[in-house]
Amino acid sequence: MKLANYICGEWKQGDGDGQALVDPVTGEQVATVSSHGIDVRRALDYARRQGTSALQQLTYSQRADLLGKVAEVLSANRAEYFEISKKNLGATEADASFDVDGAIYTLKVYAKLGKPLEGKLIKEGATIPLSKTGVFQAQHFLNPLSGVAVFINAFNFPAWGLWEKAAPALLSGMAILVKPATPTAWLTQRMVEDVVKAGILPQGAISILCGSARDLLDHLTEDDVISFTGSAQTAQTIRTNPNVVSRSVRTNIEADSLNAAILGPDAPGTPPFDLLVKEVVREMTLKAGQKCTAIRRIIAPRQTAAALAEAISAKLATVRVGNPKNAEVKCGPLVNKAQQKSALEGLSHLAREAKVVFGGDPNFQPIDADRATSCFVQPTLLLCEKPLQSHAVNEVEVFGPVTTILPYDSTEEAIELARRGSGSLVASVFSDDSSFKHQVTLGIASAHGRILVADSAVGSNHTGHGNVIPTCLHGGPGRAGGGEELAGLRALHLYHRRFVVQAGPDVIAEISKQAVDASAL
Ligand code: NAP
Repeated sequence: MKLANYICGEWKQGDGDGQALVDPVTGEQVATVSSHGIDVRRALDYARRQGTSALQQLTYSQRADLLGKVAEVLSANRAEYFEISKKNLGATEADASFDVDGAIYTLKVYAKLGKPLEGKLIKEGATIPLSKTGVFQAQHFLNPLSGVAVFINAFNFPAWGLWEKAAPALLSGMAILVKPATPTAWLTQRMVEDVVKAGILPQGAISILCGSARDLLDHLTEDDVISFTGSAQTAQTIRTNPNVVSRSVRTNIEADSLNAAILGPDAPGTPPFDLLVKEVVREMTLKAGQKCTAIRRIIAPRQTAAALAEAISAKLATVRVGNPKNAEVKCGPLVNKAQQKSALEGLSHLAREAKVVFGGDPNFQPIDADRATSCFVQPTLLLCEKPLQSHAVNEVEVFGPVTTILPYDSTEEAIELARRGSGSLVASVFSDDSSFKHQVTLGIASAHGRILVADSAVGSNHTGHGNVIPTCLHGGPGRAGGGEELAGLRALHLYHRRFVVQAGPDVIAEISKQAVDASAL
């Protein structure tokens, strides 16, 4: 099966044999993709002229209705998406739900948030008087960009990765073109196919390019937006593309991150300790740790580190790892051999500075799978005694079920260690100590996009360290890419450009008639 590209309102096969997508449990090929022979410049042109123009004839509210309909189509085909997730990602039910249901939920949230916005642009702030008599004034507005929103996505979230970006872009009135990561393009492609078939969106509002990005970046203009998720290395290639630089193409980057869970001075057996243990094991095993937000470092008081290692190891020992077709399995494989190799290499870097306290066997036997052809990595816990003098544990992101305990001797050290990630998407703080919670949250705030604080009062009501909530910010500074996504209607900023009108009150009043107030953004 060769997955077709959808551009210029048509399905088109790429040339040649294409690149293979595999089942990471059996190693069998499940599909191929090719973008060769596809006229990317024409695809972008068509999306701008047809898709964006048509979308911008509608109000935000009307576009919100479209999002609601897209969510309905995806919900109707949910079972099919779970099957594809199983075949192409080795996903368990929980893994598939995280991605697919997360996508549908995000669309529904944006459909709801956008519904009250009866307008075509956004009015920002109050009118500014520029003359003593008020005859000359200024007003800021946000106008949707007139180009196309290009999404270059990572392999780990083929469903959510598309729709968490598409929801605010389409709501803003921008046509979208998605280039999914090659290894898992199948699910993204099937979702696009279902939405196209349903005829919900105007012609040109959605396009998909499967396979290599080729010359995609070279044809973007100042009217377009790039929203990228993936490795820091590819992010750098995108940022420095000569066309992107010379045309100042707006770029949002979500890259890798060494997220931390931080335990306060809370003894073993206390609710914060137990909450952290549960969360670490969930983060290590859900999607086999292939989440940009997963806990990579556990920062814990030195006197508690051994007990913590024991408690996490005991829970990990109960997790069945293997073929997700087996109902007992709770942790599946990595997505392909390349990711398995990269994770094992990363693990060996960590093991030079930290001792393995659980797992770490490169030859372990997964359930109902052939060790040689499948792509599993055994969930592995490490402990690094001298984390402030170590490098790899604070620098190497092992994109798999691997995490390291980093002991600290003071609150200042805990803060310093969290900041050693050089900018992260998320950190979570588990403690009942008020001063610790306060000091750590503010101490790490400038280095993190999101901070989750869980204590006995919050208990199991917290939304999860790794869960990205559509109404809350997703993105982090520095190494995490410096991007911002979601956070409710704030996400619309990426797809709008601010302008100010300096004029008489009549001109400003006339423009304002089409605008909605920005107080929600
Ligand atoms: P990747 O290798 O950087 O690839 C990401 C995307 O970039 C893919 O679609 C890839 O296409 C494309 N790409 C590669 N080279 C390109 C180029 N020269 N020009 C344009 N596009 C290019 O990352 P990945 O392995 O898919 O994903 C894993 C990484 O993503 C991890 O480091 C993880 O931390 C990060 N991640 C971050 C977030 C977040 O929200 N911050 C979320 C998920 C993952 P091909 O597949 O065709 O090469």
